Amino acid sequence: MYCEDSAADEIEHVRPKSFYPDKTFVWENYLAACGRCDGSKSNRFHVISTRHRELFEVERKQSEPVTPPEPGGMLLIDPRREDPLRFLKLDLVYPFHFHAIESRVCLARVRAAYTIHVLGLNARDTLLKRRRAAYGTYVARLKEYISERDPERRGRMAYEICGLDHPTVWREIQRQHRAIDELRSLFEQAPEALAWRGALPAASPP
Ligand SMILES: [Zn+2]
Repeated sequence: MYCEDSAADEIEHVRPKSFYPDKTFVWENYLAACGRCDGSKSNRFHVISTRHRELFEVERKQSEPVTPPEPGGMLLIDPRREDPLRFLKLDLVYPFHFHAIESRVCLARVRAAYTIHVLGLNARDTLLKRRRAAYGTYVARLKEYISERDPERRGRMAYEICGLDHPTVWREIQRQHRAIDELRSLFEQAPEALAWRGALPAASPP
């Protein structure tokens, strides 16, 4: 759920269990993550303090007793409850980096930069290559869909596009299509593809 590389084999505690032992077995505190994301985030966790309206790093030395951490919302973008694309923009040219979206809300930019840094979203060569490959795959599949005439096969192709890795690459292709000549032309031929979503596929299953 963090890097979207479909390699998740760990249950990640969004609020680290070292600081929030009461959330160790709480379903709402879990998400599926890969080892690289889990290792990168580890116990790094900041909250936006509800009492002081400041950022607090939650920390505790191993020898110290567990005390209730500073109360507040998490600084990390929560992909289960928030749409990361409200905060982040992905470049669709190499090196396929994420950036904070320009916003008048300073906290939104801080949360975007923090999330990119803590999860190492721009720091892993493999991820950058996989995003570039995903871009090529999405464009190729969309071209195949456009040249296919059989309605049943078209439906299946649309459904498959919605299930590919790196769905954020697809959402950015949709969001940025007007700015890139090749994409603009493709969506003019298949405007319905602008509504296809990985999590909420508009297309019917085969
Ligand atoms: Zn990951």
